[in-house]
Amino acid sequence: MGLADRYRLLLVDLDGVVWRGSRLLRENIEWLQRAREKGASIVFVSNNSTRSRRVYSERLTEIMGFNVAVNDIVTSGYAVARWIREQEGPSRTLALGEEGLVEELLAQGHIVLSAADGGRCPVDYVVVGLDRNLTYSRLKAAHTAVRRCGAKLVAANDDASMPAEKGDVPGAGAILAALERSTGTRALFVAGKPNPYMYRLVLEERGVEPGEALAIGDRCDTDIEAARRLGIDSVLVLTGVAGERGDRCSATYRVETLSRLPL
Ligand code: PLP
Ligand code: CA
Repeated sequence: MGLADRYRLLLVDLDGVVWRGSRLLRENIEWLQRAREKGASIVFVSNNSTRSRRVYSERLTEIMGFNVAVNDIVTSGYAVARWIREQEGPSRTLALGEEGLVEELLAQGHIVLSAADGGRCPVDYVVVGLDRNLTYSRLKAAHTAVRRCGAKLVAANDDASMPAEKGDVPGAGAILAALERSTGTRALFVAGKPNPYMYRLVLEERGVEPGEALAIGDRCDTDIEAARRLGIDSVLVLTGVAGERGDRCSATYRVETLSRLPL
């Protein structure tokens, strides 16, 4: 019995599985196309908050050669925006993040305050994602919102660093750490993997049991750990971070490329 018979939902990471930076990972893509032809549902689950689900939907539809709907994608930006709405409905948020995070916050009905307002109260949530336009004044506005307005600190993801062309670069977790340090508060919630929140959202929405889902990712500390916490099987594919660093973990399957897995 192949994997497409055994699992009806594949939770697929993006960077390190579908692409590596700007390079497409063809063998993995072809395997995913075949898995879908055999009837498996595919949902893409990424810690990257800098692009919106809408943008990924267009990009993935082109790459995969089949329609990848917005609902077939979960990003940490979408997930944190949804979590905030589930807590207390539409909120006043201050985002340290890029376009993708802001778009997801707006899509969930939140007000996104500009850092130029200097953290003017009331601010309900400070939401941290990777922000490559971070400046001291934006960091200060977020700090002030937490300290003076009592805004709750949350984050899309906590990745300390992320891969780039020439070695790794600081990730959203580095920005979160700066704010945690300056404000003396810890984040109340971090949506991204290793929190299994994103995987759980998909399972609940689709009525899929943990035993029917398979998580596929390139990192032990995020993808495989989130799967372990939810009790779902996982594939560590060595086309990304773990492959490069030689990391080991107890994924259910461990393969050089997805093409090695029998479908
Ligand atoms: N966040 C950012 C900003 C990234 O650039 C990346 C990878 O390129 C990630 C997170 C990790 O994304 P994924 O969960 O798709 O591997
Ligand atoms: Ca990845």
